[in-house]
Amino acid sequence: SDDILRISNLSTQFFTSEGQVNAVDDFDLTIERGEVFGIVGESGSGKSVTALSIMDLVESPGEVTSGSIEYRNPTFADAMRESHPAAVEGEMVDLLAIPEEARRSLRGTSFSMIFQDPESSFNPSLTVGEQIAEAVEVQQRATPNPRSGEARTRGPEYSLRSYVMSMALPSKRYVSEESKAKAIELLKTVGIPDPAQRADEYPHEYSGGMLQRAMIAQALAGEPDILIADEPTTALDVTIQAQILDLLDDLQEETGMTILLITHNLGVVARMCDRVGVMYAGEIVERGTLEDVFDRSVHPYTEGLLGSVPDLEGTAERLRSIPGNVPSLLDHEMPDRCYFADRCPKAMEECLKKPPAYAAEGSANHTTKCYLAEMEYDPNQALENDAL
Ligand code: SF4
Ligand code: MG
Repeated sequence: SDDILRISNLSTQFFTSEGQVNAVDDFDLTIERGEVFGIVGESGSGKSVTALSIMDLVESPGEVTSGSIEYRNPTFADAMRESHPAAVEGEMVDLLAIPEEARRSLRGTSFSMIFQDPESSFNPSLTVGEQIAEAVEVQQRATPNPRSGEARTRGPEYSLRSYVMSMALPSKRYVSEESKAKAIELLKTVGIPDPAQRADEYPHEYSGGMLQRAMIAQALAGEPDILIADEPTTALDVTIQAQILDLLDDLQEETGMTILLITHNLGVVARMCDRVGVMYAGEIVERGTLEDVFDRSVHPYTEGLLGSVPDLEGTAERLRSIPGNVPSLLDHEMPDRCYFADRCPKAMEECLKKPPAYAAEGSANHTTKCYLAEMEYDPNQALENDAL
């Protein structure tokens, strides 16, 4: 297997006045090169925080507190081997074990991210073409130099806000003819008509769908290995949504890049993804191929979500809501039982004793955090609701 990203025991916590919130908890995931991996779950399940943790964009009072994020990149591994031997194993570099500066050099180049709201990615006072050209230039400056082995960084403080604005220039500057030409080419790639002319327009002159395409062009400027797309089409109407998904699909095929797609929409997952992980209360509770998760799901939460698969063409947009509430993610309130037990129609005595660990179901690649992976469901053992 050619895994490009190997995340183990990742925990991201927020230290609030009410206590410690475990937004992402003991998270494990391996992503293969060139696949489209979907993370699906209700809002508040930790999907976006996971993405920000991978990008190193978690902001105070949040913090990645444990785990490893290993990224396969032979050039980068060579660049890090001498200065940070403990972080490197073969071609893999543990991103949590290298300095922030070195990590930053990967952002926009090895890793790019697109968001729901493209407006926040553009500076309203500069043309779209200038901003994409800037992203091209930043990428050229930031590319780890294979000969000197030196990873150059792309600038000072880099918070989420500044990432979102990263392509937005601090002040107007003149981009080279070459990068401008590359920007126009990128606009063409993402299907913007009359790209040379549109490059000179400002963000407000673009429609929502067009600006979404421009944001994708900007993200592609660095020729990323991994594109993280967080609800990339949620704000768009369904026709445009489908077009953008097709575009991502085509780009993935052409470039071979890996996509981590975060969405609350199972229709989007079914259309785009090779594999999928279902997130609940900061954990992946079930993961596998599309078929594993859609046709052979084990976890009652997955089954609940699948109760109505929303379709792109129209009607049901949201996941079916499952009765009950997501548990508090405050550390001192987290139950010492399966986090889903209070909402689970199949909960058994076992489920109340301690949280289940990952177990394989059928194949080693289909895993779930549910006792039902190891035992047959017996309706006689299901607890009455008031026992929970
Ligand atoms: Fe339901 Fe038990 Fe599985 Fe938790 S472990 S999801 S309570 S059956
Ligand atoms: Mg989100």
